[in-house]
Amino acid sequence: MNTPQPAMTSRISPAEPEAGADRALRRDRAPVPVLMYHHVSPNNDMITTTPERFETQMAWLARAGYTTLDTEGFARFLAGGEVPERSVLLTFDDGYLDNWVYAHPILRRHGLRAVLFLITGCLHDGPPRPHAERGAALPDTPSHRDCEAAIDIGRADDVMLRWSEVQAMREAGTFEFHSHTHTHTRWDKLHGDDPARKTAALREDLIASRDTLARELGKASDQLCWPQGYFDADYLAVAGELGFRYLYTTDPKGRNLPGSAPSHIHRIAAKDEDDRWLRRRLWLARSRRLGPIYDYFRYGRRRR
Ligand SMILES: [Zn+2]
Repeated sequence: MNTPQPAMTSRISPAEPEAGADRALRRDRAPVPVLMYHHVSPNNDMITTTPERFETQMAWLARAGYTTLDTEGFARFLAGGEVPERSVLLTFDDGYLDNWVYAHPILRRHGLRAVLFLITGCLHDGPPRPHAERGAALPDTPSHRDCEAAIDIGRADDVMLRWSEVQAMREAGTFEFHSHTHTHTRWDKLHGDDPARKTAALREDLIASRDTLARELGKASDQLCWPQGYFDADYLAVAGELGFRYLYTTDPKGRNLPGSAPSHIHRIAAKDEDDRWLRRRLWLARSRRLGPIYDYFRYGRRRR
């Protein structure tokens, strides 16, 4: 659930070499930045944005004429297709209750959308709880650390989304939902000395997640977000085998462009800052000239 620096490593090249025309197209297209959020809540800690700041960020996106893509639009962009000039993809990891209570009403108010990667084993059934525009007393939305503690003692339903809330957000068009595995386990840490066991455990985890989403939402998905950004060659092989084609990393260094590998989608961690941060960060991320210079000084030569 927390997202330390990505642990990884190997890159997969785009499947086909680009033709001259594609190269020309690629040269004048702005990259599509993918932002990574976790919590939107007044109880903020390191990976939380307060509702007030999230509101300023979203209001600015809408005002500046940004289109928040869905995964279909983003896939089209990676394949060289057209998307609006100012496009961005908003993503949320894990599936906390605060995404429903605070992020959903703000997105809806501004006509924006986001992608949510669910730890599918953490969701329960039950009626939707009040959110910030329903005028009722709001449920507690604890800090990240307290959410983890609640999950550890079997009280995930107190801090995570319910399926009814997922359905309501889906119908409202504020979020679409994909996999962040079923259990959010770092199998490489548990079975690092036994690759066969690690691979088997990951396969089971991904199948459970895929089947749960198919059952709850009526369709399978080819989008997957790695827990804590970790993956290795075995992970990539299993994901590919199970039909996951678009793989979301925590690697901020690099740009998502037409022809970029869908198996290595770069994401930028959102900050608990107001719209001035977002404006500056997107400007850098979308600049073909300054983006790489910023990356170099910010992230150095580290291989991801
Ligand atoms: Zn996570």
